[in-house]
Amino acid sequence: MNALGRHILVEFYDCSPELMNDVVHIENSMVAAAETAGATVINSTFHHFSPYGVSGVVVIQESHLAIHTWPEYGYAAVDLFTCGDSVDPWVSYNYLKEAFQSGHGSSMELRRGQLSLLKRNDFNLESLRDVSAKPQEEIGTITRDVWFTERDENIALSLKHSGNQLYKKDSPYQRVEVFETLAYGNMLTLDGMVMCTQKDEYVYHEMITHVPMFSHTKAKRALVIGGGDGGTVRELLRHEQLEEVTLVEIDELVIEACKLHLPETAVAFDNPRLNLLVEDGIKYINECEDGRYDLIIVDSADPVGPGEGLFTAEFYSQVHRCLTPDGVMITQSESPRFNSAVFVEIYETYKQIFGQDKVHCYLAAIPTYPTGTWSFSYSSKGNSTPLTFDREAAARFSKEQGLKYYNEDIHMAAFALPNFVKELLNNGSQEAIDAYSAEPTNE
Ligand code: SAM
Repeated sequence: MNALGRHILVEFYDCSPELMNDVVHIENSMVAAAETAGATVINSTFHHFSPYGVSGVVVIQESHLAIHTWPEYGYAAVDLFTCGDSVDPWVSYNYLKEAFQSGHGSSMELRRGQLSLLKRNDFNLESLRDVSAKPQEEIGTITRDVWFTERDENIALSLKHSGNQLYKKDSPYQRVEVFETLAYGNMLTLDGMVMCTQKDEYVYHEMITHVPMFSHTKAKRALVIGGGDGGTVRELLRHEQLEEVTLVEIDELVIEACKLHLPETAVAFDNPRLNLLVEDGIKYINECEDGRYDLIIVDSADPVGPGEGLFTAEFYSQVHRCLTPDGVMITQSESPRFNSAVFVEIYETYKQIFGQDKVHCYLAAIPTYPTGTWSFSYSSKGNSTPLTFDREAAARFSKEQGLKYYNEDIHMAAFALPNFVKELLNNGSQEAIDAYSAEPTNE
């Protein structure tokens, strides 16, 4: 070769937008394209941007392969750079064109480091040799650096995962995926939003259940709308006093994914006291008889897609109708910091339906949720209040059940709200929302 390297600049057009957004497929294809061309892969780093797009690089002993995709255009920009002549980068080109189902590709090969233009420095190369670097043959396994990112305009949460997609299916309602994250274990996402992870799901599930169960001690019948991961019913069914727990989840694929890959969360799906229904929770509550439930928990995702209707005054009015006279509604009520506008709006709706002094907000720290600060609402149809509860019973239960978050002190502390949350709840003015929201509000 009359040059140090060969650099092929590649434009892949008319690729499948699906594949252009599939970080696992792209990473596997890039690694395989390198290996098929005879290259020795050192490591790979790939990042999946939310809402879409992937960037990544595969470092090979013979240099690198790099890519950035624009799924919205079905387009990928790829760099194939190899040194020496043991590896033919065109082999990688052909492999990737197929792997990305590219309608057509254009490319340009550059010879990099024309020897005729280079002058070899005659100094002792030995001094450069990095004796600490392990020779490739001893490295063996390639280190993969594949990231999942949930982000919106201004905030992102990235979690490194193994690159193996454990579950990925599209239901009529949403994309259901499970990733094998390195820090938080298996993680369920719906339409690219984190729902729960093995390492921190207990925070959400213990707080959405035990707070109402210890302040509404006579509960016999409970209804959960959403909650297809199973964590909420797992916690509810720890309470022997509950004679019947009904779970209404719209998407059977969520249940399937969690049974397969989040078994600890899905552990109670075969409990005889559980009535598991795959149905739209809105339809269920509209057809439900008056005053049937002591406790109704709305364990929904964010107010988008199938869950949008679970954040409306009509829906909450129906929930109110289906509660016993002393019944309690619990909802996951988003983050006061992440989506302050939604937070303010839903609390105003709760108060219109349940009454100004019947609605309470409590907080919990959930690391894998945007901003890490999440909230729950406690709305009473009757006179039960969240801070009137048997502390000893709660302490005993937390100990006996080996709970990891909920205890009698957290129960109290969760309702001690910071001033900015109190201000958002008491005067949800646009000014307050602008002041505290992590989101640009007045665009
Ligand atoms: N902890 C999660 C969070 O805060 O984002 C929510 C967990 S749970 C997985 C949310 C569930 O609500 C999803 O499985 C989704 O399919 C379900 N869901 C959304 N809309 C629904 C509806 N209309 N009826 C019943 N379930 C619904």
